[in-house]
Amino acid sequence: MKYEGDLYRPPSEAYSLIVQATIGCSHNKCTFCSMYKGKKFRIRSIEEIMEDLILGRKYYKNVKRIFLADGDALAIKTDELIKILQGIEMLFPECERVGIYGSPKSILNKSQEELMELKALGLGIVYLGLESGSEKILKDIKKGVNSSQMIEAGRKVVESGIELSVTLISGIGGKINSKLHATESALVLNEMKPDYIGLLTLLLEEDTPLYKEVQEGKFELLTPLEVLNETKILVEGFEIDNCIFRSNHASNYVSLRGTLMKDKKLILDQIDEGLNIGGLDDKEIYRRL
Ligand code: SF4
Repeated sequence: MKYEGDLYRPPSEAYSLIVQATIGCSHNKCTFCSMYKGKKFRIRSIEEIMEDLILGRKYYKNVKRIFLADGDALAIKTDELIKILQGIEMLFPECERVGIYGSPKSILNKSQEELMELKALGLGIVYLGLESGSEKILKDIKKGVNSSQMIEAGRKVVESGIELSVTLISGIGGKINSKLHATESALVLNEMKPDYIGLLTLLLEEDTPLYKEVQEGKFELLTPLEVLNETKILVEGFEIDNCIFRSNHASNYVSLRGTLMKDKKLILDQIDEGLNIGGLDDKEIYRRL
């Protein structure tokens, strides 16, 4: 396979065949992200993508999942995505799911009918980086869309029948906006009704604008206990049924996993256990937040 630069994929695509349909990220402006900083966004030609798929077929006997990278491969025009999905169907009849990163703008640029057509051709899951549901924080981190647009994009995916996996970042509002981040993110997710929520913890590379803000004292990172407390407020606000909640990425301090709403209490109990490890009661942690 011909891979260009560093490759990123969601944890649940660890065993998928990864094909770069785009190079880089179409937005590339978020203040906390350095993933695709060195790459100028472009869409690969159908010929290049098909070459990789044919090569993948030669190497791998049984491919159940395929992930179309890089950031925002959903930016590809629908007729080209259709050709890619038809190529996958022809070369990998055993493939059960094709996954893709989709920015809110790319989702909103597709009609409901287009998304449904992509679903019928095998697009099984869209990964959307919400990062925060807070209007203020989305603006601060230069996400490029507001919370209403995020909700609209998420709903559009869900209503097309494609599974929606949403990523949220603990600590992305810093100390000052921690509570705002937790409460408003829960409200946005309740509206979106995703199938999966993945919670990561903010980790900053040195070449990001947000890292510079931390160095200058303009943004305060959360302590592990503050992250847990923020997570508690977030989970308390959830009112989503049949949604798998995971906070078990390497960046997280405490590993959490459950299905909402049935495991909500279990998840909150695990968070309380984590909070008690620090020897602080809730009142004290709230006071320090
Ligand atoms: S967070 Fe996502 S949308 Fe923002 S720059 Fe990084 S890859 Fe692009």
